[in-house]
Amino acid sequence: MVPNTSINPPERVVELRNILNQADHAYYVLDDPIMEDSVYDRLYRELVEIEKKFPTLITSDSPTQRVGGEPSKGFKSVKHRIPLLSLDNAFNLQEFTKWFSKTNKLLNKDVINEPSKSHPLVGELKIDGNAIALSYSKGLLIRGVTRGDGSEGEDITTNVRTIASIPLSLRLKNPPPWIEIRGEAFIPNAVFTNINSKREASGESLFANPRNACAGTLRQLDPQVVATRHLDFFAYSLHIPEDWAPSLNDPKKPLTQSEALKWLKLAGFKVNPNHQILKGLDEVKSFYINWESGRHNLPYATDGVVIKIDEYALQASAGFTQKAPRWAIALKYPAEEAPSKLIKLTCQVGRTGAVTPVAEFEPVSLAGTLVSRATLHNANRLNTLDLHSGDTIIVRKAGEIIPEVVRILPELRSIRAEKLELPTRCPECQSQLFRVNEEAVTRCLQPNCPAILRGALKHWVSKGAMDIEGLGSKLIHQLVERGLVKSIANLYELDVSLLASLERMGSKSAKRLINAIAASKEQAWHKKLYGLGIPHVGEANAKALAKTFTNITDLSTKACDSPDLIRPIQGIGNEITLSLQHWFSNSNNNELITNLQKAGVSLAASDQEIALYSNKSNNQLQHLHGKTFVLTGTLTSLSRNEAISRIEEFGGKVSSAVSAKSNYLVAGNKAGNKAGNKLKAAQALGIKILTEKELTDLLST
Ligand code: NAD
Repeated sequence: MVPNTSINPPERVVELRNILNQADHAYYVLDDPIMEDSVYDRLYRELVEIEKKFPTLITSDSPTQRVGGEPSKGFKSVKHRIPLLSLDNAFNLQEFTKWFSKTNKLLNKDVINEPSKSHPLVGELKIDGNAIALSYSKGLLIRGVTRGDGSEGEDITTNVRTIASIPLSLRLKNPPPWIEIRGEAFIPNAVFTNINSKREASGESLFANPRNACAGTLRQLDPQVVATRHLDFFAYSLHIPEDWAPSLNDPKKPLTQSEALKWLKLAGFKVNPNHQILKGLDEVKSFYINWESGRHNLPYATDGVVIKIDEYALQASAGFTQKAPRWAIALKYPAEEAPSKLIKLTCQVGRTGAVTPVAEFEPVSLAGTLVSRATLHNANRLNTLDLHSGDTIIVRKAGEIIPEVVRILPELRSIRAEKLELPTRCPECQSQLFRVNEEAVTRCLQPNCPAILRGALKHWVSKGAMDIEGLGSKLIHQLVERGLVKSIANLYELDVSLLASLERMGSKSAKRLINAIAASKEQAWHKKLYGLGIPHVGEANAKALAKTFTNITDLSTKACDSPDLIRPIQGIGNEITLSLQHWFSNSNNNELITNLQKAGVSLAASDQEIALYSNKSNNQLQHLHGKTFVLTGTLTSLSRNEAISRIEEFGGKVSSAVSAKSNYLVAGNKAGNKAGNKLKAAQALGIKILTEKELTDLLST
């Protein structure tokens, strides 16, 4: 969030401290956060920056000077033998690089013998759970304590004993008099979903995320409830008395973090297997990038990686700040949610006349892309959000998913803010807007609305429909604005000289476009049907309809007179049948059909297509039914769109991400980082990997 510069630093520091202290209490003590982590992190950063600039403003109660929250009253408070600190954060690779060179400098001062070497590091996953410290006396578990404020935590021993992956006794022949094991307790994703659905069913409030659910569970006063929550635990560090030496039968005392992880495993703990020794920046970068997508296939939540200096001796030289070790850093993944400030509310009118409110806001970086607008879907959503001018909003974007406004923060709203609502008139043609039959959607019903025409043209020329290259949004805008095109059919009346007179059009590109428009007349029947933009008739439904009704007259007659012949077609049903009836009963649409046919666009299957439909039995056509494919890398013998439509033609599905549900990963050439990640994820999940040749063989059987 942009720092509030209108307030002076001393005032802002107090304001930030108050907000963050309240958030800490809600998060650490009540397990019921009042803001998103991304908001917290940004406000925290702002406070750190001001305190760095004005050190006299630092107070001992500043959240930057403390670890976590105070221990809660329900449990006995226990002092940690060795402070259990937090970790410093880097929010991107640049910040990590700074930390890396700072730490190397710091160590080179101390480690005189190896001044030029960069120190081996260990990369681990940052498990999004709660740190706990386990004390063992002569090999027996005697205590489990939360992190608390870093120096004192809550004694949660009875609850810890219910966690099956925490050994009650160590697998050592001659255990030390005392040993402290630290690690992360967490709730696996599937268990978390289950807990929340049960809470929803019984009307209880939901946990915000697995980490809060885990914290709430660890502090349950009834250990039987804890046992039903199936917590899990990954151990990641240990403290042993300095003067203790293991017996010959026991693993030797670790001197590095990587040895410690092996030791913990031998002693009976569950250690996360996804750790790696890393040498230098490049290896850290690859580790971080690889897990950015790989982590989504894990059954538990992670929010980054933790990079630690491997050697204990070097860790000791680096030491600690008040809050965290200097020898480790959490390198977090970009937030998929972030706060921003609303600039304005605009409206988009689509090809069906649907009016979609759009929030335009200060650009924020989310999941690796800069985002500045998000759809608010419809008037109902706008009302539920209760959006006001200048509101602070929380925006979410995960991977390829379109950005959305998750919620607003009314507590940060200015008193002069005004409630925002959908307009009553179309922003394009000024005609009255309607909500038909209690639909959630508000529509412009004016058939000549330029926005509706532009939408229809964009859809007609799109790849899935007529695939007319060279007719982009800007050109469509000009054609509509100048009144040169009043319907899709008019496209076929355009000539080179007229097109060449338009902005940014030369005679060469005009000629090319006229040829592309003419060539589109030969497109497949199902693509033309899809291009007409009949509501609810997407690419797959258009294909299904085109196979049964091989021309528009047949489809229109059956839709209106014998709907029972349409409904049973796979994927069609009542809603689409009604939509077809409605579309064909509109005289404007019938006029469009006549005009397209007059312009030479045959709305019927060619003889070849009819032969294809009748030759192949349904079974043959559907031999990939139920199979999900993921494509990665570049395909050479067919375009990605062709591959998708061929797979779908045979009944298969194509998904963008690898998951346990995928059946095949098709690995093309030039697999970059993203593709490499998909490949790794597929291998890890045991998904069959196909070469391009194997795919084309599958498509030609
Ligand atoms: P943190 O979550 O950034 O990282 C430190 C913790 O990581 C450690 O204590 C440990 O428990 C854990 N960890 C996981 N895997 C590890 C591994 N392999 N090795 C070592 N440690 C590992 O820091 P924090 O102090 O626990 O929490 C601060 C964060 O909590 C903030 O950045 C914020 O996102 C969130 N928070 C949110 C709110 C809110 O209101 N939403 C309030 C307070 C804090």
